[in-house]
Amino acid sequence: MAVLVTNQAQSEPPGFADFLEQIRAEAIASGMPEASVSPALASAVFLDRVVYLDQRQPEFTQTFWRYLETRISAARIDQGRSLLVAYQPLLDDIYSRYGVPPQMLVALWGMESDYGRIQGDFSCVSALSTLAFDSRRSSFFRQQLMALLQLIARGDVETYAQCSWAGAVGQPQFIPTTFRDYAVDFDGDGRRDLFYDVPDVLASAASYLSARGWDPQGSWGHEVMLPTGFDYAETGLDVQKTLTQWRALGVSQPNGEPLPSRDLMASILLPAGASGPAFMVYKNFRVILAWNNSILYALAVGHLSDRLAGAGPLWAQRPMVDPDPLSRQDVVTIQVLLSQLGYETGEPDGLIGPKTQRAIRAYQKDASLPADGFPDAALLALLRSRVPQGGG
Ligand code: CA
Repeated sequence: MAVLVTNQAQSEPPGFADFLEQIRAEAIASGMPEASVSPALASAVFLDRVVYLDQRQPEFTQTFWRYLETRISAARIDQGRSLLVAYQPLLDDIYSRYGVPPQMLVALWGMESDYGRIQGDFSCVSALSTLAFDSRRSSFFRQQLMALLQLIARGDVETYAQCSWAGAVGQPQFIPTTFRDYAVDFDGDGRRDLFYDVPDVLASAASYLSARGWDPQGSWGHEVMLPTGFDYAETGLDVQKTLTQWRALGVSQPNGEPLPSRDLMASILLPAGASGPAFMVYKNFRVILAWNNSILYALAVGHLSDRLAGAGPLWAQRPMVDPDPLSRQDVVTIQVLLSQLGYETGEPDGLIGPKTQRAIRAYQKDASLPADGFPDAALLALLRSRVPQGGG
């Protein structure tokens, strides 16, 4: 394949051309047409910038209020409300087909690509070839590269299309396997176009959520008020109870009204710890997590969808001074100190995953603190005082 060699980038690492040739052979052997696969891979160049972005670690953890502020601006709410009106007939059609409400689809659209404005400017083929060749998750990206080649072969994606650095495609920023398996040609023009075709974009988002179990009757969640003396160890996605059970524990609507007595299963989340807002989340919240496995993301999408449908800001007040976010190194220190005290956090990686949260809850419980599993500067200081010789 001399044609592959002509596209060698200055920085191309040894083995990249051979790797592309392997991918080409595998794609053709699996039945994809040579006429679409070869030109696509011939256009692939190794992108150092993609490797840099993949390896970059955020220096600070995200805080709930800052995350919400940067994602849900007044302009984003206003524009989303206008789009809800402008696309109402289309969104109603999609709702009757898939059962996903218009404001949820528009909220996802706004969060993913600022309503189509920001779709990424990296060659899809180059970005995914680079990541499949050189990344911590090369087998995942190899699968995505294969799916992209299928989409190109089917005419859904153009050979030189542009994506995010991680290969997320079009206005809903679908990974190629999600595009391949769930996107729909809603306007019936013969092509699933997630770059320019708004009916396809919105219906494909609905198709995916529906396939992941979206409950047309249910909401994503809502804010709640917790009673004095509430056991914070009952919060988190690990704990699910019926509304009737939560009501019996004294959990109420944010205005103090009782929750309805229903069999519906729900969890309570405290994204800013015990002193911040409390949310009750339902099955549809977990469907949003299937789209993007980040609690802050899913809460922001849910809240944005409510705002688009006319709701006001959250009941909980943003603190006058938002506490500084912990640095990644602070989180590593918390993990190391918890481990030294016998609370298993797994590898100290600076990320607040479920294991770290469980360890924090267990420590808080033993120390008679509110067991909200939330790491902050006070927790770090306390742990340091308990393990004066400890790391970090
Ligand atoms: Ca179409």
